[in-house]
Amino acid sequence: MSPPHVIVIGAGIIGLAHAVSAREAGYQVILLERDGRALGASVRNFGTLWPIGCAFGVEREQALLGVQRWKELAAKADFWIRPQGSLSLAYREEAWDVLTQFARQGGGFELLDSAETQQRFPAANGKGLRGALHSAAETVVHPPSAILALTEYARRIGVEFHFGTPVVKVHEDAVETSDGRRFRFHRLVIAAGEEMRLLFPEALAAAEVQRCRLQMMRTVPQPPGFDLGAIFVSDLTLCHYPAFRDCPATPALRARLEAELPRHRDWGVHVIAAQHEDGSLTLGDSHEYGADFVPDSFPEVEELILSALRDFVCVPELSIAARWQGVYLKSMKGQTQVVLHPQPSVTMVTAMGGLGMTLSWGLAQKTISSWQ
Ligand SMILES: Cc1cc2nc3c(=O)[nH]c(=O)nc-3n(C[C@H](O)[C@H](O)[C@H](O)COP(=O)(O)OP(=O)(O)OC[C@H]3O[C@@H](n4cnc5c(N)ncnc54)[C@H](O)[C@@H]3O)c2cc1C
Repeated sequence: MSPPHVIVIGAGIIGLAHAVSAREAGYQVILLERDGRALGASVRNFGTLWPIGCAFGVEREQALLGVQRWKELAAKADFWIRPQGSLSLAYREEAWDVLTQFARQGGGFELLDSAETQQRFPAANGKGLRGALHSAAETVVHPPSAILALTEYARRIGVEFHFGTPVVKVHEDAVETSDGRRFRFHRLVIAAGEEMRLLFPEALAAAEVQRCRLQMMRTVPQPPGFDLGAIFVSDLTLCHYPAFRDCPATPALRARLEAELPRHRDWGVHVIAAQHEDGSLTLGDSHEYGADFVPDSFPEVEELILSALRDFVCVPELSIAARWQGVYLKSMKGQTQVVLHPQPSVTMVTAMGGLGMTLSWGLAQKTISSWQ
């Protein structure tokens, strides 16, 4: 008897993680992608694998497993990966309180005072710096080349790809594509990113997820010898991720930031700086929530990101080489992943928000174990 057929819709990281993991588990896998290549959130993000943003417990374990899988796959599929760690810098007293409370939970984090931070990370802006938390787990990949290499790897291990093949309808045991073909499945994984709403819109609406649009940019390569040495974030980011939500000082930090930086609040701006292989820095981002967005990129948002960046890092070259936008779905209930079963044998994986690169492999493993 031939092995069960798995169909995956979408060649972003969630689709690829499911396709590769299912193939490794012995399934016959066909992946159907609407475009000529993955062009969604998975090639528009920072490329930061970010356990430090994940809540302690199951989610952090999932993220750490994800980083491990990325490293194994970088070796097998031959793409650039740099485990450089993260540096969360604190300027406001409340931010320092958040970091010290966070570090008490364990996890091997290192608290550095201002002098130690500047000595180990010369790019840190020393003006008003209270201290920083260093975490070793965070890692960077270059999303466009990593996704391409993973696609080639998946093909090599036997995943069958059909690009330029939009799925327009899901039947009980087959999907129908826009050219009228039907692909039968035993298991279907829908990883259609923000276009998820086109398939099973009622299930998605009931799950209370919303669209979020983000503005991003990349600098020109920094001069030779300039090395951030870690992924840099600061006070604003501590109010963004679930990991810091339960620190007793977080509400006070949030209140202070909202009072001091109201336009950052309005645009949902927090700032990450991640350095890539060519020396450029990927910078972002803003968060606009809603059903529909105007197409414009806003210079004000860019300036808000750059002004916040200058407060915590001294970058020699801030000329911008590229600007882009990304959209993802996010849970309105604070979940970092939403898994739906609108039909038996159908798994919709969505709403991974800003942690999809980090959590994808662990989630794929869970989906596939649930089939056995
Ligand atoms: C600006 C930005 C920054 C981010 N930063 C990070 C980060 O640093 N770290 C992190 O962990 N996460 C980050 N994320 C989140 C992460 O990028 C996403 O959670 C993840 O990429 C979602 O992957 P996906 O496969 O679900 O979606 P996508 O990458 O959007 O892929 C979905 C694919 O499905 C295809 N598709 C849609 N409909 C159909 C159909 N009907 N038929 C066939 N194909 C279809 C699309 O063409 C697309 O290729 C960021 C996201 C953004 C936007």
